[in-house]
Order: sequence, then C-alpha cells, then structure tokens
Amino acid sequence: RMKTAIVTGASSGVGLYATKALAKRGWHVIMACRNLEKAKQAAQDLEIPEENYTILHVDLGSLQSVRKFISDFRTTGRPLDGVVCNAAIYMPLIKQPLRSPEGYELTMTTNHLGHFLMCNILLEDMKRSPGTDKRMVILGTVTHNPDELGGKIPPRPDLGELKGFAEGFKEPITMADGKKFEPVKAYKDSKVCNVLTMRELHRRYHDATGITFSSLYPGCVADTPLFRNHYPLFQKLFPIFQKYITGGYVSQELAGDRVAAVVADPEYKQSGVYWSWGNRQKKNRQSFVQKVSPQARDDERGEKMWDYSLKLVGLA
Ligand code: NDP
Repeated sequence: RMKTAIVTGASSGVGLYATKALAKRGWHVIMACRNLEKAKQAAQDLEIPEENYTILHVDLGSLQSVRKFISDFRTTGRPLDGVVCNAAIYMPLIKQPLRSPEGYELTMTTNHLGHFLMCNILLEDMKRSPGTDKRMVILGTVTHNPDELGGKIPPRPDLGELKGFAEGFKEPITMADGKKFEPVKAYKDSKVCNVLTMRELHRRYHDATGITFSSLYPGCVADTPLFRNHYPLFQKLFPIFQKYITGGYVSQELAGDRVAAVVADPEYKQSGVYWSWGNRQKKNRQSFVQKVSPQARDDERGEKMWDYSLKLVGLA
C-alpha cells in the first residue's frame, strides 16, 4: 500500500518541495491548497509523478473551508499516515488586521486555528488508519524562540495570558494577548501556538494512539515566497544576507527534504520533539532535538491555548 500524507500549502516553497521529497519516498501526497491551478502547475513544473499526488482545495483562513476539505479528503477513501501543517502567511507590512469569515485575525487563523481544527478532526482518521507508523508534523520557526539569535529581533512573540483568545478573538481584538495589532508579532505568536499545539497533541494523544507528533525548523529558506509581502528591497537582500553573512540559508529543496524525513524516515519516529539542523547549512549537517522557547514549553500555557482554541474553532 502507498502511504498517504496531507501537506497543507503544497503549492509553493517548503510544502511543494516536501511533496516532491515524499513522492520520491514512494508516498501519495494530498496537496491541500487554496489555489488549485497554481498547485497543479507547480507539481508539473517539479515533475512530480501524477500517481503521487491529489490536489484538494482548502483555505486555512476559513474554518468552514477546513471542514469541507476534510469531508473531501474522506471521499478519497485513503487511509491517513501523515499530516504536515505547513501553510502560513506572513504579512509584515499591513497596518490593519485582515479577518477570517468568522471574524478572527487572519494570520493567527491561517497559521494556527485552521491547522488546530484540522489536526483535531484528522486524529480520528489517523486512529482509523491501519498504518503502524503515523505522524503529524507542524512547521515551527526559529523566530518563535527569543532564546535564539534568530528569535531576538523585535517584536518578540508573547501570548501573554491569552486574553485576546479568552475574549473571543473578534473585533476589536486583534492579537492573542489582547494587545495592539502588530503583524510580525502575529506571525510569531501563531508559530508559538503551532509548537504548543504539537506538544499538547503529544501529551494528550501519543500514548493512547501511538501517533508521532513533532515540529521542526528546517532552516532559513530565505527565497520562498513567504516574504512576498515584504518590501522588494528586503526580498532581494534577505537571501543574500542569510547566505553570506549568517550562513543560515537553506534551499527550498533541502528544507522540503527535511520535512519529508521527519514525516517518513525511521530516525525521526520520536514524539513530542522539535527538530533542528542548526542555523548553518553545512554538508551532511546532523539533525538534533532542540529545546523550544520558554512559552512554547510552558504546559500551563499550552493547556490554556488548547482550551481557548477548541472554543474558537467550535469544538467545545
Ligand atoms: P510560502 O509562502 O512559499 O508557502 C506558503 C504556502 O501556504 C503556500 O502554498 C500558500 O499558498 C499556502 N497558504 C497560505 N495561506 C493559505 C491559506 N489561507 N489556505 C491554504 N494555503 C495557504 O512559504 P514557506 O514555504 O517559506 O513556508 C512554509 C512553512 O515553513 C511556514 O509554516 C513557515 O512558517 C515555515 N518556515 C519558513 C521559513 C522560511 O525561511 N521561509 C523558516 C522556518 C519556517 P499560495 O501558493 O496560494 O500562496
């Protein structure tokens, strides 16, 4: 049997190359994308064999769309072996928050709440699947962690007491901590939620289900379209800076291969952990389990985040 993984945001960057790398490992990938034409073109451009993928629509910025996606996935009849929560938006220049159809701030919805809902429902599909090695992987990033060099640049992520979530996360609320809108912080906050979600999934479900839950920082993939909403000059200089000054630059291909390894390779069958390859791209660089940020390893905050998120996505 060909193993099946869902990869969100597979139409570009890390998700696209992860799809390619999983296909190379003999997997079938459900490319969960908001732009079907773009996804189709991207898969063809990379010459991913047709038997290795199916493209299905999802808009992670809409909870209703996530539910629709799951019902579409179920009609394929494929048992589920892997999930990769990869899609994300980063909107550093916007002055006013964008909103999901539910009225929630859009960066947090796309990157965290949409995936949170998806993971919670797909747990059932994974439990039902006959596989013996099932994994759910959520993309992290160095900027979630102020203890690391790459995470020290302000604004720093801070979920605070999750007051914004507690109060319903709709207008006039824009941020998880209930404070003033800051789009870069919204991205970083969403990534802290991603890591907390992975750790909570592990604490709650690993023993009972045997599913492996993990996160990773694949390296600084400075030339993905993630930075498409930044100043053009930034887009030009950032990859150069990462390549020649910090040495943190990782190609999309290598980042995608790292994601696929965490989903499929035997040495990454470890639950509750966050994988890193360090910031420097060296040949044959070894992966290691890295400590996550103080907020992302705070179990009490994780529980709060979990309970509020359940309410926001309509599961509680
Ligand atoms: P890209 O912008 O290249 O890819 C993001 C993907 O998410 C695209 O396929 C995009 O679709 C999709 N997406 C965005 N919004 C939605 C939505 N509402 N519904 C469905 N899909 C959506 O970024 P990267 O490949 O760089 O980022 C992928 C992941 O890697 C993110 O989680 C990011 O945080 C993480 N990461 C990236 C790093 C980097 O340096 N680039 C470093 C560390 C982590 P579309 O093609 O339609 O826009």
